[in-house]
Amino acid sequence: RLSHRYYAMKARWLGMEVMNHWDRNAPLPETPQAIIGWDEAKNTVLSAYQRFSPDMAEIARAFFDRNWIDAPVRPGKSPGAFAHPTVPSAHPYVLLNYMGKPRDVMTLAHELGHGVHQVLAAGQGALMASTPLTLAETASVFGEMLTFRSLLDQTTDKRERKAMLAQKVEDMINTVVRQIAFYEFERKVHAERKNGELTSDRLGQFWLEVQAESLGPAIKLREGYEVFWSYIPHFIHSPFYVYAYAFGDCLVNSLYAVYQNAERGFQDKYFAMLRAGGTKHHSELLAPFGLDATDPAFWQIGLGVIGGLIDELEALDN
Ligand SMILES: [Zn+2]
Repeated sequence: RLSHRYYAMKARWLGMEVMNHWDRNAPLPETPQAIIGWDEAKNTVLSAYQRFSPDMAEIARAFFDRNWIDAPVRPGKSPGAFAHPTVPSAHPYVLLNYMGKPRDVMTLAHELGHGVHQVLAAGQGALMASTPLTLAETASVFGEMLTFRSLLDQTTDKRERKAMLAQKVEDMINTVVRQIAFYEFERKVHAERKNGELTSDRLGQFWLEVQAESLGPAIKLREGYEVFWSYIPHFIHSPFYVYAYAFGDCLVNSLYAVYQNAERGFQDKYFAMLRAGGTKHHSELLAPFGLDATDPAFWQIGLGVIGGLIDELEALDN
């Protein structure tokens, strides 16, 4: 429902009745083009963290003050971005390729979230500090959400707000709805494989089935799309890993919704969760927030956050 609703709206924005599959993530003309300087990015993220908790901002500030971030782009440098915990007795390092786009500010917020998590969990020691996959992206996505919300609050231009919200919704659909479609594809493939070898035609058929269902009627799948399953390395190298992205994103959305409705005390529980590192199962870590991942209502809260952002976009549209 979320993706069908959003893509129908995007097709309308682009003046098309149905989009082609390559238009799905096309940037909107409203996207701000101004370059965001490093100091501004730093202040944006630190003040968003500060508003949530001065302690969190203080931990993140150390990354700047003590030169733990390798930000600029240069020839031969590793692409992408990550936070590496090194060993608990030392400190993490962050790698970025900062180019001053709004997306780069979000990446800084994301990696610093990991960094804060790694600093807090270091007390668990080398064997227990690292978190299981289910919670590995919690602090990073939460940090992004704090920064996104504060950037959005500062943006008064209606066109820019629309572009920011649309970008966020697209990211979330790609992380939640699309990864679940990938998971459904894997289920079909592995179930069918029990009965014998699969032809490439059959693989393509499964792919088109799940994609048509997940993308919805506003997206036309053109010839050639049937082989696109082959661009997902997880299918070969880490079967069923894709669920973790959807799990992590929905979990953080639910957590964020609790934070929005909480009066006080959320921050203390949040820090306790991060400090636990890999010592506890997610059920134990989420219990203090009144969240239970075995309850369908838990996932509804997370999906509701995405639905709420689409509501905001629709309201801007009218
Ligand atoms: Zn991450």
